[in-house]
Amino acid sequence: MKPILILFLMLAALSGCATNPVSGRQDFVMMSESDEIAMGRQSDMQVRKQYGVYDDPPLQAYVDRVGQRLAKNSHRPNLEYHFTVLDSPEVNAFALPGGYIYITRGILPYLGSESELAAVLGHEIGHVTARHSVKQYTAATTANIGIQIASIFVPEINTQAGADLVNVTGSALLSGYGREHELEADKLGSEYLARTGYDPHAMIAVLSTLKDQEAFDIARAKEEHREPRIYHGLFASHPDSDTRLQQVVNESQNLQVSPHPLEGRMIYLEHIDGIVFGDSPSQGVVRNSEFMHAGLGIALKFPQSWTIKNSAKAVQATNGEAVIQLSLAENEKRSPEDYLTSRFGNGALSSFRSSGYAGAILVYSSRAEAAAIRMNGKLFVIMGVAANPAAFQNAQPAIERTMHSFHAMNPLERKLAQGLKISLRRTAPGDTFEKYAAHSPLGKNAAGYLRLLNHAYPDGEPVPGEEIKLVE
Ligand SMILES: [Zn+2]
Repeated sequence: MKPILILFLMLAALSGCATNPVSGRQDFVMMSESDEIAMGRQSDMQVRKQYGVYDDPPLQAYVDRVGQRLAKNSHRPNLEYHFTVLDSPEVNAFALPGGYIYITRGILPYLGSESELAAVLGHEIGHVTARHSVKQYTAATTANIGIQIASIFVPEINTQAGADLVNVTGSALLSGYGREHELEADKLGSEYLARTGYDPHAMIAVLSTLKDQEAFDIARAKEEHREPRIYHGLFASHPDSDTRLQQVVNESQNLQVSPHPLEGRMIYLEHIDGIVFGDSPSQGVVRNSEFMHAGLGIALKFPQSWTIKNSAKAVQATNGEAVIQLSLAENEKRSPEDYLTSRFGNGALSSFRSSGYAGAILVYSSRAEAAAIRMNGKLFVIMGVAANPAAFQNAQPAIERTMHSFHAMNPLERKLAQGLKISLRRTAPGDTFEKYAAHSPLGKNAAGYLRLLNHAYPDGEPVPGEEIKLVE
């Protein structure tokens, strides 16, 4: 059954009122706790499949430990919580109904201590305890989440789904819940921080860093033609200077259990030492519109100005009215020609060779074509789908250049495809971020990134003798 259908069936089963754990009042349009958990569990499988779980058991265990301690001090201490670090370069965290909480590995380098990690997790626990995620799920955005997950997963996008992809820009679940709910989650998160022995002001520190990161990344994303990596719509819904935010954080300080709150800077840094920064080599790396996958040994060049989105299952590029997607056909033994005609039907079929490998292209409708290329026993599929025939005509030369650019990686590409990692460094007197930036693989924006990663944005310098995060 398609995920979207399951979601609709679950929505149809919703009924009546339930008591809100935070307000104690009766909420309308809510589901029972067991329905909520079942919905979370169902979607959890999709989230894990879509993003991939980050392969670092000690880090997963650490994040879970921090999260479980906060959850025990929340308004729903008896709910079973699950904390998962997703293998995504996005800077984000989100919660599904029923206690399923996710944090991306992409956000972790921007946090400076365990208390800041706890602030992000506490905020998400707040969304669960106040049942924002349930309310969100019952809203119309459910359809959007379903479409997005289905279309990335199903390796075979058909033409309709392909056209839908053009319209899908992201799900509301990942982009926050609106100002009121965000403030409530900040308030609840601050309370849970205070009750667990952290300083609730970590909430303000995190929001301030992530807001800087958001502004910086929006500008970089524009330069690099990719989607910005931002924490659920922070800028719009979460001004850190907001007096109401200061107020709720200050109030929660009265709940503080310890006069010496835990910061946990070194323990946190040790856990993120060596984690992947930016694109993951296991999911492929994008540099200058070129996609490179070390594990598969392949590379291809997307059109320069198109926006590239990479996920565990496929990589896609779009110009707003057409999409190019590269995926792998699992266990496919047929020839490229046989595969294309049996999957897409009849059309104009032509054979070609791409850096010595046999391939075929089939134009199977007035707005779609597909190429299949066999390399090292695997069959790679590149689809180009446009919203309408006119858009297809415009995009077709770029789509076919991309298809022909598919090749086995050369040694330089192999090196680039290894990806980047966070590494700790003890600073010496005279060290500056500009000095580190000169040797950084992050390129011309390196100093800005390094300052953001070390809470020194926009013009701070390292304190001699302190551990800082570098990217290597
Ligand atoms: Zn939130």
